[in-house]
Amino acid sequence: MSGQTWRRALVTGGAGFVGSHLCGRLLDTGSDVVCLDNLATGSRSNVAGLQQRDGFRFVRGDATDPAAWQELPGRFDLVLHFACPASPADYLRLPLETLEVGSTGTRHALERAHADGARFVLASTSEVYGDPLEHPQRETYWGNVNPTGPRSVYDESKRFAEALVTAHRQVNGTDTAIVRIFNTYGPRMRIGDGRAVPAFISQALDGMPLTVAGDGSQTRSLCYVDDTVGGVLALAASGEPGPVNIGGGEEITMLDLARRIVEVTGSSSRIRFVERPVDDPGRRRPDTRLAQERLGWQPRVDWTEGLKRTIGWFSRTVAA
Ligand code: NAD
Repeated sequence: MSGQTWRRALVTGGAGFVGSHLCGRLLDTGSDVVCLDNLATGSRSNVAGLQQRDGFRFVRGDATDPAAWQELPGRFDLVLHFACPASPADYLRLPLETLEVGSTGTRHALERAHADGARFVLASTSEVYGDPLEHPQRETYWGNVNPTGPRSVYDESKRFAEALVTAHRQVNGTDTAIVRIFNTYGPRMRIGDGRAVPAFISQALDGMPLTVAGDGSQTRSLCYVDDTVGGVLALAASGEPGPVNIGGGEEITMLDLARRIVEVTGSSSRIRFVERPVDDPGRRRPDTRLAQERLGWQPRVDWTEGLKRTIGWFSRTVAA
């Protein structure tokens, strides 16, 4: 991976789960970092540690609001557009906001990157592949998305955002990149956000039944957050436009995930099967050859280690 550093980076959604880790890594490499976040799904506690560090600034503002952009002084050489509700519970609660931040929010972020001559990276998602008919998913696959289903507010918001980024690159020559992130886990996921890893861990730590959707045979390929952040920054440092998949290599059923979490926590919890959400994808695994070939990237943190670190963080947070 390249040792490219940035003088001044803007991270929209920097008070969220992935965004706060990105801010931290950028500070580690010597960049000044501005985080623009409206705290719709993120929190001040995610950036509390960062606010003690030189070069970090938190700005509370909405990426869809032109005034918020005008209030960001100075020039950026990197714009990472990560603002967007990401867990199904959040985007189902905030459907219009999710579509707005993918459309209007992405437009403002692109215009700022263009005006500043900055490198721009859009956080897109494996959800653009919908319930995939191709497995594993390569970047060339167009996806299988229900445009009016409950998940469409997220999937189509990101698909529109990808189209907007592509058009800005073609029309204005903006230096853009698209990263398609697959399910990521790690410290600072929100316990109540409805995603499987925080839900299972908190249930296991509380000795409650782990609620597995359907029969638990649906798969995901989870990637530890440090690896995801490494992939995003490797893409930023490259000249690649993407889209590039970044995600974990090991495909796991939700039932196996629940069992592993019970094992690592040493919990006495049982498994309880609950109704599966509408349009929940059946299988998900990235083909990451492009990231390996073009960015020299591959995930490094294995399951045992990643889960240990995540469970350790949740235990300390729940206990605090
Ligand atoms: P998150 O909900 O923890 O973080 C999103 C952040 O964006 C929050 O801090 C929220 O307050 C902020 N935000 C939302 N709307 C905003 C707006 N209009 N203006 C300013 N800030 C706004 O989610 P996350 O898991 O950290 O995801 C971050 C990004 O990565 C998202 O764009 C998401 O689509 C993408 N992504 C995440 C995953 C994953 O597994 N976590 C997978 C694929 C893609």
